[in-house]
Amino acid sequence: EIGATGIGKRFGTFTALEDISLTIARGEFLTLLGPSGSGKTTFLMILSGFEPPTTGTLTLDGKDMTGMPAESRGFGMVFQGYALFPHMTVAENIAFPLKVQRRSSAQIRARVDQMIEMVGLGGHGHKRPAGLSGGQQQRVALARALAYEPPVMLFDEPFSALDRNLRAQMQGEMRRLHRETGTTFVFVTHDQEEALTLSSRIAIFDAGRLQQLAPPREVYERPENRFVAEFLGDIN
Ligand code: ATP
Repeated sequence: EIGATGIGKRFGTFTALEDISLTIARGEFLTLLGPSGSGKTTFLMILSGFEPPTTGTLTLDGKDMTGMPAESRGFGMVFQGYALFPHMTVAENIAFPLKVQRRSSAQIRARVDQMIEMVGLGGHGHKRPAGLSGGQQQRVALARALAYEPPVMLFDEPFSALDRNLRAQMQGEMRRLHRETGTTFVFVTHDQEEALTLSSRIAIFDAGRLQQLAPPREVYERPENRFVAEFLGDIN
């Protein structure tokens, strides 16, 4: 379980996040939803450990991790642009974090094969990223991040560069991977449909503040305030 208490972030005099408190249960699929500039990415960067919060504390399974560096948290990350290593094959890309962890080569080979199958890239292991479609590259990035079984996966609009079809396909993939791995997923989007269909709960951000945190049905049927109602286009 991840706990955030009173998380705030200032950049100079600008307040990007203010007093965010929430908990993320193990195995949850939490989506951060909100307009551009509402602080979603900033919050994700604070969870990852790449940005320190200005105020507040973070815990992981009850232990303080506020000052813990990103490498020690070891969360998996899939961001826009998904930077694969261009000179490595698909299999080598997926193997990379496992080598860093110094797993045995037999273990690495077995895990890489398993991940390649899991994301539907059987037969593509020997190819380089340039020889793959955008959706296939995105799957390699997913496989690479999931390969070392991180306790938490963080996603920042991973599908925004994909066309409609690929996007729908990848969303299905995400749902399946979440179910199969039982990993905690935290997912940033400004796509309502994506949030609605994927998440167990949605956290709605506006102007650096958490407006509502509830399962998808609930935020649509019982928006807590005028912003949420208007943002979801559901004003009565
Ligand atoms: P988008 O959907 O456009 O990605 P977002 O909700 O993820 O938006 P953030 O990227 O978290 O929003 O940004 C929140 C606010 O903080 C924005 O106004 C942004 O300009 C500001 N901000 C983010 N990072 C920095 C930084 N390093 N320095 C100064 N301001 C920043």
